[in-house]
Amino acid sequence: QNTINKIAAGEVVERPASVIKELVENAIDAKADAITIEVKEGGLKFIRITDNGFGIHKEDVKAAFLRHSTSKIKNEEDLTSIMSLGFRGEALASIASVGRVELITKQEAEPVGIRYVIEGGVEKVLEEVGCPIGTTFIVKDLFYNTPARRKFMKTAGTELGYISDLIHKMALGHPEVSFKFINDGKIKLQTTGKNKLKDCIFSVYGMEVAKNLIEINWSFEGMRIEGFIGKPHLNRGNRTYENYFLNGRYIKSKVIEKAIEDGYKSKLMLHQYPFVTFHLHVDGKDVDVNVHPTKMEVRFMEEAKVFQLVYKGIESALNREAL
Ligand code: ADP
Ligand code: MG
Repeated sequence: QNTINKIAAGEVVERPASVIKELVENAIDAKADAITIEVKEGGLKFIRITDNGFGIHKEDVKAAFLRHSTSKIKNEEDLTSIMSLGFRGEALASIASVGRVELITKQEAEPVGIRYVIEGGVEKVLEEVGCPIGTTFIVKDLFYNTPARRKFMKTAGTELGYISDLIHKMALGHPEVSFKFINDGKIKLQTTGKNKLKDCIFSVYGMEVAKNLIEINWSFEGMRIEGFIGKPHLNRGNRTYENYFLNGRYIKSKVIEKAIEDGYKSKLMLHQYPFVTFHLHVDGKDVDVNVHPTKMEVRFMEEAKVFQLVYKGIESALNREAL
């Protein structure tokens, strides 16, 4: 079982940033509205994620670390309508198999919380502790027992780059959640959690970007786009300034790329890439989730409609503004 976990871990847990992604997604699934992420040495030495979500029931703590025991996919139909972020039930099993994990959690109805320590898939401690409502995960010495993978890791600086990028996207994808990111004791990012996308853009990209935005807000065929496009002087020569989220999840899509760029060119004959950050709200059944869950590419059932939504959203935003 442990070998299977270690092998499978390679799929889910590629590097420190993928551990953080899974743990933050779990916190969001647990309805947390404040999440603190702390790392040391690019997450290879130490990761701590604290949330104020609903916690894990003490009877469920052990099972949470068993592969697939928690999978939310019960039948075929669920596959197409899944909206929550976690639905594979293997992240915790994988993470615990390649690191030293400590979990502290408490639900509202419980007088005390639980502390659980599991290292390389082996249980070390299970005890009651006093703690606030919510969940804290500490992951130390990632890949300590898989030297091949450990060697494959880049420098702490490179891993930190992946982590920052991930947290920026998580924060932009969830303006309703207050994120705090601390690296080696220094606060790197803090968002308000007041559900204002513009505030999140300010936290991530700074004032120069935040004060040069045009609002996008458009609905089409039951789908909605909302967010911002930057004024032309923010443009870049590549797509690094294009962020978009499908029902809160950061994605990549050729159709959306084309709609952004065509929509932009319809108004301004510039062969550059605009700053955009927007959210798409599309019914779960119109999205093909059979695409691998850790990949960002998403397919839509009706691509032409999604194209229209984004294209028109951008066109109408640009029309409103004298550029
Ligand atoms: P999945 O998210 O796919 O169900 P995971 O391995 O990521 O699988 O998590 C296993 C289970 O542990 C979750 O289904 C959830 O019940 C519980 N869990 C994990 N993290 C948290 C958290 N931060 N708050 C509350 N419950 C959590
Ligand atoms: Mg999960």
